[in-house]
Amino acid sequence: MTANITASFHPPRRILMGPGPSDVNPRILAAMGQPTIGHLDPAFVDLMDEVKGLLQYAFQTRNELTLPISAPGSAGMEAAFVNLIEPGDTVIVCQNGVFGGRMKENVTRAGATAVMVTDDWGTVIDLEKAQAAIKANPGARALAFVHAETSTGVASDAAALCKMASAAGMLSILDAVTSVGGIPVAVDAWGADATYSGTQKCLSCTPGISPITFSERAAERIRTRGVPVQSWFLDMNLIMGYWGAATKRAYHHTAPINAIYALHESLVILQEEGLEASWARHRKNHEALRDGLEAMGLSLPVDPRVRLPQLNLVSVPDGVDEARVRAELLEHHGLEIGAGLGALAGKAWRIGLMGYGSNPANVRLCLSALEGALLRQGVKLKAGAAVAAADAAYA
Ligand SMILES: *Cc1c(COP(=O)(O)O)cnc(C)c1O
Repeated sequence: MTANITASFHPPRRILMGPGPSDVNPRILAAMGQPTIGHLDPAFVDLMDEVKGLLQYAFQTRNELTLPISAPGSAGMEAAFVNLIEPGDTVIVCQNGVFGGRMKENVTRAGATAVMVTDDWGTVIDLEKAQAAIKANPGARALAFVHAETSTGVASDAAALCKMASAAGMLSILDAVTSVGGIPVAVDAWGADATYSGTQKCLSCTPGISPITFSERAAERIRTRGVPVQSWFLDMNLIMGYWGAATKRAYHHTAPINAIYALHESLVILQEEGLEASWARHRKNHEALRDGLEAMGLSLPVDPRVRLPQLNLVSVPDGVDEARVRAELLEHHGLEIGAGLGALAGKAWRIGLMGYGSNPANVRLCLSALEGALLRQGVKLKAGAAVAAADAAYA
């Protein structure tokens, strides 16, 4: 049998302004197209050391156990749970969107009990409720939460939550998939124990890799667990044989060599710009987008004090077919924005301004494209006002 396909695949040109993947910097695609070398080649081993150092910068940590998991952000989440949690443990999980729900799944599948602290979608994790759960469950192993909830565009107070966990002798597990590069993440200053991210959000890299970092306290916990990590592939004790000290590197799995070139380049770009400058750029473009959306009469339902600049939740006006708007943006402009998830499905759009894609040209394109789509659906608005408001924000 042969598949009757003879043509190469050529993806359409898109501008990715959804919840991820984000637009990939062309420098990263070029880095990825370089020749593949062996995963134990001395040149690759040197590259691995550089990647570790660059990840320590991105996470703002000196943690020795800092490395990229060879799988997407979801695998970083799973790695954090399966390495730190043992059957019979209790874990407090704060949930205010989609990804907290996945944390619960990870806890229960690891044979542990999840104590849920739930907050409404679109609001932050309530610190008092989290503190009450800690008090009510003094024997809990860990407190887990999502820093930047991509499903709603909300940033919770990671510093306070990590501090609460360590004050109670619990480990903190922190999802920083959407935060790294877009808003401050300070693993050491916060005392975070397990923090994972992803390549395809504000790092603007191709999807499929999950940077992760463990504190010394967490690493000790992994070394001294009672039962082996249930996942062979994600067992840090084994992965360290490959990503650990350069002299004794041994085969664990074949690293996704070219994807690591890409990650390296994305981290070099982040370091060139500087974390502070990257955070400021994300904020500036968010402000211009916000001003433009508001000039169109659209509203951003998240409290301004906790909005993520890299992920903007926008309410769909009454009577507007939100799916048709997204389809038109894609068809007419090659522009992808995100739909609402879960409780927000059909009610909101999610506009990403992540990494390389967080730039004035994208802000203006999105505003004018959205304006056109809304006008075609009979929404009354002043043509041109949105881009003018964004221009004013940049002036
Ligand atoms: C995207 C995302 C993930 C999952 O990352 P994948 O690369 O899609 O597996 C996890 N947590 C948050 C907060 C995310 O935004």
